[in-house]
Amino acid sequence: MPQEVFVQTLIMPNITILGSTGSIGVNTLEILKLHQKHFTVFALTAQKNVELIFKQCLEHRPRYAVLQNISAAEQLSLKLKQAGLETEALAEEQALVDMASHPETDYVMAAIVGAAGLLPTIAAARSGKRILLANKESLVMAGSLLMAEVEENDAVLLPVDSEHSAIFQCLPANFKIGCSPCGIEQIVLTASGGAFRDWPEDQLHVVTPEQACCHPNWSMGAKITVDCATMMNKGLEVIEASWLFGLQPEQIHTVLHPQSVIHSWVEYVDGSILAQMGSPDMRTPIAYALSWPERMQAGGKRLNLLAVQQLEFRPLSHTRYPCLPLAYAALKSGGTAPTILNAANEVAVQAFLNRQVLFTDIVKIVEKTLEMVEISAANILETVLSADKIARDYSSELIEKIHKKVEV
Ligand code: NAD
Ligand code: MG
Repeated sequence: MPQEVFVQTLIMPNITILGSTGSIGVNTLEILKLHQKHFTVFALTAQKNVELIFKQCLEHRPRYAVLQNISAAEQLSLKLKQAGLETEALAEEQALVDMASHPETDYVMAAIVGAAGLLPTIAAARSGKRILLANKESLVMAGSLLMAEVEENDAVLLPVDSEHSAIFQCLPANFKIGCSPCGIEQIVLTASGGAFRDWPEDQLHVVTPEQACCHPNWSMGAKITVDCATMMNKGLEVIEASWLFGLQPEQIHTVLHPQSVIHSWVEYVDGSILAQMGSPDMRTPIAYALSWPERMQAGGKRLNLLAVQQLEFRPLSHTRYPCLPLAYAALKSGGTAPTILNAANEVAVQAFLNRQVLFTDIVKIVEKTLEMVEISAANILETVLSADKIARDYSSELIEKIHKKVEV
């Protein structure tokens, strides 16, 4: 058994896990099981999966369990009482914000998928929490607002996304999230290429949601897996990186790396390149965010470099992955452009998963919505939420038209 070297400065921090039944949430709880002496699970939240959150409550005994769906929360409350647990079941959106900003919450794992994660993440920042950020959409939607709340309220924002965790680990130890690091020429975010990296481009219009949800290297929720297949995920990550690391779009590059061994790298002005490697297992970046600035066991499979036969790197084709240049364009436009990009993408991906549109329609819907919805400054939350809503309404109309085979 390897020696445990983790010595935590804050004694038994209370953790609230937003999105505990998802892929990141489940991985986080697996790590916490290994470190029960170091952390207390304070609150778990999910949308509607009663059985899984109940099982998690039995195992981790949180003070609160929140389900978005009211009838699901009622079912959970009954099950908790029958099992003799003291966990209190809560419902509705406000409960997410309340848990994220609760005075007894120390750490918030922000692992809700999509725009639904924004308000609780902002609430955590306003209350000065340590935020372990998996929910990249909140930074894409409202990067300037979220970073300002973090700064003003002495919150600590730590990346969970594997590429951003990799970059963070390759930056100097005194680097502060949100500031521009000195001596950096550029960073390179790696991408596995998603489910269709080797499919003929002219066949992409016939792919099914089941095929899109089959990622070659990582096991993740449905939305992000489709985003990997379209490469919108990398586009969102470019925007996420610009906020976390204070970099210009021209300093953020992407590359296809099918093995997912190097999770990203930093190129310094003196010619040095620092890269972070590991198995494609989210437990490593989650454990780093939990234990930072120290390290602790993550419980994942180790990377055996001797067994890695080769590492390949290729440019990402913009004809195969047209969502990537769209995301760069939204980042360069600034204001609410990334909010609009994100909203249209969420709506389009859901429509693809519901079989209302084709895989190749996703980029068309995002592009058209970006073209038609007015971009404004994104320095007030109301403006961001309004841009999100207008973009959702517009892209939903497009989907209706596509569904009825009307020209868009
Ligand atoms: P998932 O779909 O597996 O889980 C999402 C979680 O959010 C679930 O617990 C669900 O109940 C909850 N949720 C969904 N909609 C909600 C709503 N409206 N209100 C409240 N709760 C809601 O997703 P995931 O793969 O775990 O991803 C979560 C986030 O982490 C995403 O933003 C994703 O981009 C990011 N991320 C995930 C991975 C990964 O390996 N899965 C890697 C990097 C980043
Ligand atoms: Mg990632």
